[in-house]
Amino acid sequence: MKTIGLIGGMSWESSAMYYEIINQEVKKKLGGFHSSKSIMTSVDFSEIARLQNINDWKSLNQLMVQSAKQLENAGADFIILCTNTMHLCSKEIVKNTSIPFLHIANATAERIKSVGLKKIGLLGTKFTMEKDFYIKNLKEFGLETIVPNSDDRKIVNDIIFNELVLGIIKNDSRKELIRIIKDLESKGAQGIILGCTEIPLLITPSDVDIHLFDTARIHAESAVIYALE
Ligand code: GLU
Repeated sequence: MKTIGLIGGMSWESSAMYYEIINQEVKKKLGGFHSSKSIMTSVDFSEIARLQNINDWKSLNQLMVQSAKQLENAGADFIILCTNTMHLCSKEIVKNTSIPFLHIANATAERIKSVGLKKIGLLGTKFTMEKDFYIKNLKEFGLETIVPNSDDRKIVNDIIFNELVLGIIKNDSRKELIRIIKDLESKGAQGIILGCTEIPLLITPSDVDIHLFDTARIHAESAVIYALE
């Protein structure tokens, strides 16, 4: 079994989900007393959010590379970064480490393709929905991505940063996300990427009829498949 290296803390709520899913998956596949071999480095999200806010991606790159190197030096066999947004730093991580890096958008794109969908709605932070680092990866897998209009992107981003990363779950926000998901569906989305690792805390498949792709779960599951290959 390979040792999974996790860069966590963005936010810790979703990192806890990763840890749980990874261990459940290993137990499901190997049975008995089996659990995952893993190492997690966890950052202080306050510093990350502050740097995101002032668009200081140079410092964010440095912090992510530092975390990745900690994992490599500690003996991780490969790395997963437990957040969608911070994959903006993935190129720097890959450039500065010599162990494999499993990209969250690639794992998600593979899953979407395996169920035969082509046009997909994306919900996430403003960085994930508006910069091209994420959508570009999906495009490389032949997927067409649509995002909410700018007012709705602001609503989604505010729900993430004012509530979800603080562990706050509100019914009104769930209703808003359902409305936005339905709007994307009316524009042709065949499925929705929950492209922020905290959104599954608020929205689950029972809330909507359309196929949801929970990026944290998909990423964690693909890490286990790779670890056991
Ligand atoms: N965990 C979130 C994501 O998947 C947002 C937190 C962050 O800004 O890193 O994008």
